[in-house]
Amino acid sequence: MSRPGGGAHRVDTDVLVIGAGLAGLAAARRMTAAGLTVRLLDKGRSVGGRLATRRMSGAVVDHGAQFFTVRGESLAAQVDDWTARDLVRVWCHGFDGSDGHPRMIGSRGMNSLAKDLAVGLDVHAPSMAVATRFDDLGHWEVTTDDGSSHRAGVLLSTAPVAQSFSLLFESVDGLPRDLFDADYDRTLGILLVLDSPSAVPPPGGLQNPTAELSFVADNALKGISEIPALTVHAGPAWSLEHWDADAAIVEAELSRLAAPFVGSAGVVEAQVKKWRFATPRRPWPEPCWVDERTRAVLAGDAFAGPRFEGAWESGLAAADAAVRLCR
Ligand SMILES: Cc1cc2nc3c(=O)[nH]c(=O)nc-3n(C[C@H](O)[C@H](O)[C@H](O)COP(=O)(O)OP(=O)(O)OC[C@H]3O[C@@H](n4cnc5c(N)ncnc54)[C@H](O)[C@@H]3O)c2cc1C
Repeated sequence: MSRPGGGAHRVDTDVLVIGAGLAGLAAARRMTAAGLTVRLLDKGRSVGGRLATRRMSGAVVDHGAQFFTVRGESLAAQVDDWTARDLVRVWCHGFDGSDGHPRMIGSRGMNSLAKDLAVGLDVHAPSMAVATRFDDLGHWEVTTDDGSSHRAGVLLSTAPVAQSFSLLFESVDGLPRDLFDADYDRTLGILLVLDSPSAVPPPGGLQNPTAELSFVADNALKGISEIPALTVHAGPAWSLEHWDADAAIVEAELSRLAAPFVGSAGVVEAQVKKWRFATPRRPWPEPCWVDERTRAVLAGDAFAGPRFEGAWESGLAAADAAVRLCR
């Protein structure tokens, strides 16, 4: 295990994690429990990545992931812990016809789950990794946009795959070209705070309600907001077609598409949200990618499946790989 030492040879941490979204946080917790020192860097102001919750005009709005499902034992154990502390609860058992599988939500928004996982971790945010170097001593050095550098024995990146590829390709031989080509669907969305209840029926979620929209959520019916507020996500085709359109046009078009769900309510505040790396198109067949020589690991929902549980499982697989590499 490479431990921080003295002088020029020291590393700052056993493992440096790029990205404090769900995959990075799940990995960091498991590695910390295994006795490693871990530091996370995130370019965002705080942790969570696509587990994103915003306060707008007094409303609480989830604007990335809307809910999650649980199939594996490790996430089930975490959900039991969150449930006991009232951090998660069941939203419903399906939106259309209902397959009965519980749809779980963060009781105070999805981002609160990331914040909970981050308690006690060494998180540097905002701090964007802009360059990496694998040095002659076999250590990784990562430079961030504020000019700091961080040295570690293992580098674990959970950034969008093409970005991880760009950060690592000069040092890592045999990085599969397919990783660079792994693309993501985009999501354009609009968040609307309303002055009275929306026209969305209980339980407050509509999957693919129109040809253009992929999801509409009523955050009040969902139970995270006292004030009525909608999250309206456009589907990948519509999002790609309108990605470069003028912001005012996108807002007007999304407002028009959202109108049937707003109903007779008035709009108090509207915000457009863009997710460039919303959904990996073709998940990698392994739960993470490992370079044994340089001790570099790539993880995230592009590896174990493009959802909450995929990110979780990928983070845990990456943590197991990192623990092994540190031995
Ligand atoms: C609009 C939308 C709706 C969704 N709905 C659902 C849903 O209902 N159910 C579900 O299960 N899943 C949903 N998802 C998917 C789910 O949110 C993701 O699968 C999961 O959150 C991905 O976690 P991650 O850690 O792999 O990636 P991310 O959450 O994207 O984390 C990666 C982190 O890396 C950081 N980063 C990137 N580059 C750098 C860099 N150079 N330096 C430092 N930090 C960097 C980013 O800031 C980010 O925080 C949705 C996603 C979106 C966008």
